[in-house]
Amino acid sequence: MKTTNLGYPRIGSNRALKKALENYWSGKATLTELEETAKNIRTENWLLQQEKGIDIIPSNDFSLYDQVLDMCMTVNAIPKRYEQLQKNNATPQDLYFAMARGIQKDGIDLTAMEMTKWFDTNYHYIVPEFYDHQTFSYANSKIVKEYKEALALGITTKPVLIGPVSFLLLGKEKESTFDRIDLLANLLPTYLKIIEELTALHVEYIQFDEPFLATDLTNRDREAIRYTYQTIADKFPDLKIVLANYFDCFGENLDMVLELPVHTLHLDLVRCSLQLDDILASKKLRKNTHLSLGVIDGRNIWKNNFEDSLALIQKAIAHVGEERLYIAPSCSLLHSPCDLDLETNEVNLSANVKQWLAFAKQKLEEINTIRNFITKVNLTETLQKVSENSAANAERKVSKSIHNPAVKERVKGLTKTDDQRLIGFTQRKVIQQKALNLPLYPTTTIGSFPQTKEVRSQRANFKKGNTTPEAYHSFIEKETRETIEFQEKIGLDVLVHGEFERNDMVEYFGEQLDGFAFTSFGWVQSYGSRCVKPPIIYGDVSREHPMTVYWSSFAQSITKKPVKGMLTGPVTILQWSFVRNDQPRAETCTQIALAIRDEVVDLEKAGLSIIQIDEPAIREGLPLRKADWKAYLDWAVKAFRIAARGVKNDTQIHTHMCYSEFNDIIAHIAAMDADVITIECSRSQMELLDVFREFKYPNDIGPGVYDIHSPRVPDRSEMVALIAKAKEYIAPEHLWINPDCGLKTRHWEETKKALIEMVAAAQECRENV
Ligand code: GLN
Ligand code: ZN
Repeated sequence: MKTTNLGYPRIGSNRALKKALENYWSGKATLTELEETAKNIRTENWLLQQEKGIDIIPSNDFSLYDQVLDMCMTVNAIPKRYEQLQKNNATPQDLYFAMARGIQKDGIDLTAMEMTKWFDTNYHYIVPEFYDHQTFSYANSKIVKEYKEALALGITTKPVLIGPVSFLLLGKEKESTFDRIDLLANLLPTYLKIIEELTALHVEYIQFDEPFLATDLTNRDREAIRYTYQTIADKFPDLKIVLANYFDCFGENLDMVLELPVHTLHLDLVRCSLQLDDILASKKLRKNTHLSLGVIDGRNIWKNNFEDSLALIQKAIAHVGEERLYIAPSCSLLHSPCDLDLETNEVNLSANVKQWLAFAKQKLEEINTIRNFITKVNLTETLQKVSENSAANAERKVSKSIHNPAVKERVKGLTKTDDQRLIGFTQRKVIQQKALNLPLYPTTTIGSFPQTKEVRSQRANFKKGNTTPEAYHSFIEKETRETIEFQEKIGLDVLVHGEFERNDMVEYFGEQLDGFAFTSFGWVQSYGSRCVKPPIIYGDVSREHPMTVYWSSFAQSITKKPVKGMLTGPVTILQWSFVRNDQPRAETCTQIALAIRDEVVDLEKAGLSIIQIDEPAIREGLPLRKADWKAYLDWAVKAFRIAARGVKNDTQIHTHMCYSEFNDIIAHIAAMDADVITIECSRSQMELLDVFREFKYPNDIGPGVYDIHSPRVPDRSEMVALIAKAKEYIAPEHLWINPDCGLKTRHWEETKKALIEMVAAAQECRENV
């Protein structure tokens, strides 16, 4: 029985790649320096995996920016607009980074390729662009270069490629005349060339990632998969094809997959352990197909439960024998932070919580220990590790720091009415209007105001203890006061305090809630050089004290206009954290919802008549298969409703969501029953509103009238036109006027100008009713 891995984090345990990339982009470092850092990371990763006992180590899992972009370069899938660069003799690196980030240089002005989320992760990939009759060619030898690089270290690797079908499905047609899957006939020969070159180098294994196998596929897509792997197997009978699927089971695709002439099927047994029974019992499983058992969670930070993993593995051994099995992580370790050993700050992460965790490096050790246990290697040491593992897991099960009976009771005690507002929206609207007395087209913002360098450094200094609490406090007070005064002066109707005290919309709440821990170096790549450091929800969540009341009520105390209290919603807090795996996500989400509800109630008591609960992440929590959507949406929407329900009829609840399609989920958005929803909309020219009209969405809507992602100041007339457009979809009495999202990434200068124009645009529309 061998051990294998699907991919390793490439950012470097100290984010060396991030720094090298940013230095290169800003001209502070040369390409050679960047490449040297990249090579060091690859070398470290390979040697580490070898040292930790991984037999089949991946290569080409490294990327300077993104593995899908790499594949575009490899098969020469370059969008037409970059031809201009190619003609100008741009270097391959210039082209690569222009595709990733756009370029504005020497009269050339090209936008970046689109980016979107990699399945249900927080990793973003570059979306390939396809044209009718597009041809491909083998244009970049990165795969071969990295294979040889590892070979020079004495390590024979398994190159990782995105499978051709998933590569096509990941992309987007740029013309409406064709279906991108039709391009397979043109694309496959290029893949065959790559494989030919690799097999000529005696490459034994190639891993093809086809994660679309975890989604609902059409018969045509399935046929494309079948044809692809049949063709590869026919042409390269000695090649060991590893077909990797992850993030969910094969589902409806299983029958087809079992018949494929591949050497190994990789199974994500963390997301879906039940599929193992189906596979082992299936008559279709070929006699010589090997199974890569993904038992170690590549998506989360918990120590593996060896007992559970061993049970699965033993079952597989009983059916197919040890020889046909590999032990693996559930997916690439790209989605895990690098190294738990770096976490020495006990204030953020107590030793107690730390003993329950495993990051990428520790996950390699776990894979090896499991294998050694089964094959009876290093027995004394292995048994020791296995018993340590079961002790840690047993302790976690009953730990007082995780289990808070009062919280569990409270969740259990929720009744049917705990997520219902007292009366319906139509009646609430009348009461709220009486209390708030807002004009037609009320104007507001989404919450944050510019986080200037000074704001950031004051906060950082305060955290480090370099600023006294008093000095920090008066700084935030001054910023908040000025922001309120500015909003009053320009005539906004509903004000916000500006969020100057917040580092991040999830971390700020996590730091004040029980049940959360933080890492110092638990970075995970989000896209390119961007990394996130998600909090860890390890225990029952509760709120000991108010979290936002002080600054919200301070802001309210200095103005007669209504100030919106600003909260992050339970689904978003859940979605942007590492979540405990010892209870259903729904349960954890409900606990967070109750904590937020307490905050909502306290804000109301403190005199805030409007409270916004942001849920920008609600859509990204959707499961990969449509059949699972309803269950998720039911508990997610319910969590929001529980959070929002504690208030009186005259308190107005807002929510906010960033750019997302509402098409399939509009009924659930409506079921959230927020009095006002603000959405990112300007980039779609209000077309996102179509589904609200179609559904006859009953509550108020604030479609963003300007794009906050760009420093550009929109014209008043532009916004007037957008508002007019919005009126085609939404009745004027339900329409609010606001920007697309929070203003924290903008500068004051453009923010001031844009908001003045926005208020004037609303005024103009009121006059022309
Ligand atoms: N209230 C938050 C802000 O304005 C919302 C951020 C978001 O939607 N991502 O910053
Ligand atoms: Zn937003």
